[in-house]
Amino acid sequence: MATDYYAVLGVRRDASQEEIKKAFRRLARELHPDVNPDPKTQERFKEINAAYEVLSDPQKKQVYDLGGDPLSQAGAGAGAGGFGAGGFGNFSDIMDAFFGTASQRGPRSRTRRGQDAMIRIEVELDEAAFGTTKDIQVDTAIVCSTCSGEGAAPGTSAQTCDMCRGRGEVSQVTRSFLGQVMTSRPCPQCQGFGTVVPNPCPECAGDGRVRSRRTLTVKIPAGVDNGTRIQLAGEGEVGPGGGPAGDLYVEIHELPHPTFQRRGDDLHCTVTIPMTAAALGTKVPLETLDGLEEVDIRPGTQSGQSIPLHGRGVTHLRGGGRGDLVVHVEVQTPTKLDVEQERLLRELAKLRGEERPQGQFQPGQQGLFSRLKDAFNGR
Ligand SMILES: [Zn+2]
Ligand SMILES: [Zn+2]
Repeated sequence: MATDYYAVLGVRRDASQEEIKKAFRRLARELHPDVNPDPKTQERFKEINAAYEVLSDPQKKQVYDLGGDPLSQAGAGAGAGGFGAGGFGNFSDIMDAFFGTASQRGPRSRTRRGQDAMIRIEVELDEAAFGTTKDIQVDTAIVCSTCSGEGAAPGTSAQTCDMCRGRGEVSQVTRSFLGQVMTSRPCPQCQGFGTVVPNPCPECAGDGRVRSRRTLTVKIPAGVDNGTRIQLAGEGEVGPGGGPAGDLYVEIHELPHPTFQRRGDDLHCTVTIPMTAAALGTKVPLETLDGLEEVDIRPGTQSGQSIPLHGRGVTHLRGGGRGDLVVHVEVQTPTKLDVEQERLLRELAKLRGEERPQGQFQPGQQGLFSRLKDAFNGR
């Protein structure tokens, strides 16, 4: 008989399946090629795999116990187990083929970067137009001061996990159609950290961080718009284990203005004037973002015409300068004329030869389109 499989695994001949499994797992952890790449150890690793393949399989074990070596019987009873003892050599290749090479080795750190946080704030139009500073309340995780983010109660410390011996993962041999395949999974005792914290910090329950509310002063630049996000680096959530904080994003929500509607950096409003004022011209007071101004309505202004006030809009977020304030004029036709008013209007119509006007018809909605075009061209 070539090999004493019981001796290879270091178990008695009457060892139970449980004992065999245990012995194999212990050795596999020690001798796994990923832990110990030394060729001699790899040879040993193959041996224990072969031993386990035989002793864990009741049929093969029986053959072996009766003096045979099931692994030396080339092909006999191998079935689909094409990678029996002989083909077991290139273990890493099998691993890579089935589990990818991306599997992370070694324990994962307890320290991780924290998440980004987001907070919405409301600003008035003039605040968006000119910029402002705002105090905001933020509620994020900060480093626990009791344990300085370590997660261990004061006077204690994290200890190496005895289940995975600090590796953070445990290996397991499973049987597949390829023969035996070793898989690794995060250590269930330490969740892959490689260390355990026997006495977690009472303040943060071992997380290394606590929630805290604080006030931040945020500078809001001129020109922000609905949905603009201001990034405050490192003001987000502190990570587990005292990891670096994520960023805080402050998202702008612009409140509607009673008079002005914003389109890009231009502001629009509509002023309604009587027909007579449109014909004769007038000045209309308007409370702009820059204070009270007089909008000059020239004689003969038509309904739908727009009057641009250049540079009275919102500051451009990039590059400076400002958009325009566009005043759209709506001319109101007088209604409910009394006797005297009607007489005067009829007289005016007579003087202007407009008693029976022909009207000027245009195709489709040309009038409306040209008006809209005027509005956008600021004419
Ligand atoms: Zn703590
Ligand atoms: Zn562990």
